[in-house]
Amino acid sequence: MIELVSRDRCVSCDICVKVCPTQVFDPGLDGVPVIARQEDCQTCFMCEAYCPADALYVAPDADHPVQVEESALIAAGKLGKYRASLGWGTGRVSTAQQDDSYRILALSERLAPKKAAAASHPSAPA
Ligand code: SF4
Ligand code: SF4
Repeated sequence: MIELVSRDRCVSCDICVKVCPTQVFDPGLDGVPVIARQEDCQTCFMCEAYCPADALYVAPDADHPVQVEESALIAAGKLGKYRASLGWGTGRVSTAQQDDSYRILALSERLAPKKAAAASHPSAPA
């Protein structure tokens, strides 16, 4: 779940406030969003993906909050890591072409007529 908003990195764009599907953030009075309802976080990583400043950290544990230290996250390259893994951001190349899951959809479309034909001509009972 969401664990950190970096005050040093945040550029106060409020994109995270807008993209979060469960309204976890409140806009901050000083421009830095506040994690107001952490328990509502779905660990979907959308905020981290869309944050243009790599200022957010979503921990992979979806069930429990974990203690994090910003300096340790930075040292480990974990701030905005999900965005980086997507290849989103200045100077990065999208990794979408490395995702082969579209092949599953294509295969399912190819098999659909065969399934329909099999359903309309069931085998005779023995
Ligand atoms: S998306 Fe990132 S930079 Fe924008 S307000 Fe949220 S934390 Fe700050
Ligand atoms: S991980 Fe998803 S649900 Fe959690 S704060 Fe970010 S956008 Fe909201």
